Amino acid sequence: MNSAYIYETIGFGKVYIDKKLSKSIKNNVENVENKSQETLENHTSTTSELLQKLKAFYETCKDCKKCQLSEQRTQVVFGDGNPDSKVLFVGEAPGADEDVEGKPFVGKAGKLLTQELERVGLLRQRDYYITNVVKCRPPGNRTPEEQEMITCSYILKEEVKLIKPQLVIALGKTAAVGLSGVKQISPTKVRGGFISANLKSPILVPGTKIFVTYHPSYLLRNPNELKNFREDIMKIKTLIESLR
Ligand code: SF4
Repeated sequence: MNSAYIYETIGFGKVYIDKKLSKSIKNNVENVENKSQETLENHTSTTSELLQKLKAFYETCKDCKKCQLSEQRTQVVFGDGNPDSKVLFVGEAPGADEDVEGKPFVGKAGKLLTQELERVGLLRQRDYYITNVVKCRPPGNRTPEEQEMITCSYILKEEVKLIKPQLVIALGKTAAVGLSGVKQISPTKVRGGFISANLKSPILVPGTKIFVTYHPSYLLRNPNELKNFREDIMKIKTLIESLR
């Protein structure tokens, strides 16, 4: 690309550059282009390495029967999204649609969450990874029991180990309890802020901060809370931008 053209297109008006200077600028531009390509390739290769590692790990637990939730599930539902984004959303458990499709947050509640995140420019395949505390659908969509969450924690723990998230977001009370080890949590009191994992957390290092917001299925039942949820999403977006 002509160096004068580059300067002109970014607002310098008509630019005349002598041949020596032009060559040096051209080299600099090529260096920057090469570096950007390198960064992109590194990012892509890290992402695909991580995806491969996650896939290999998931392969080892796709027939898991460690707890009673295996009895009525269709399949184990693992995480989805960009594992290299360093942003991890964690929900409660797969629902009926997720159980059939084998992907988390694809039902009505999941679509609401995806849509609210897309409203502020956050895309699943680029900006975050999403998973659940337990990977099999509890019968009738009941809340997972404490022991089921503890038994299943080996999967989320490995996901955390591989992804190394810098921002962990709990969607709803069950996820907040499962991640933090704190038993008494009032989502209406802590939502929009952080709680810390305690010594009993089976997943996170004690002291790890967890941002808490509503589970989207709660919003389907309580649409009046959408305004507060949107405020949380804006906070999450700001936090994500500060990681870049
Ligand atoms: S919920 Fe977790 S521990 Fe229980 S069977 Fe499914 S994958 Fe295994």
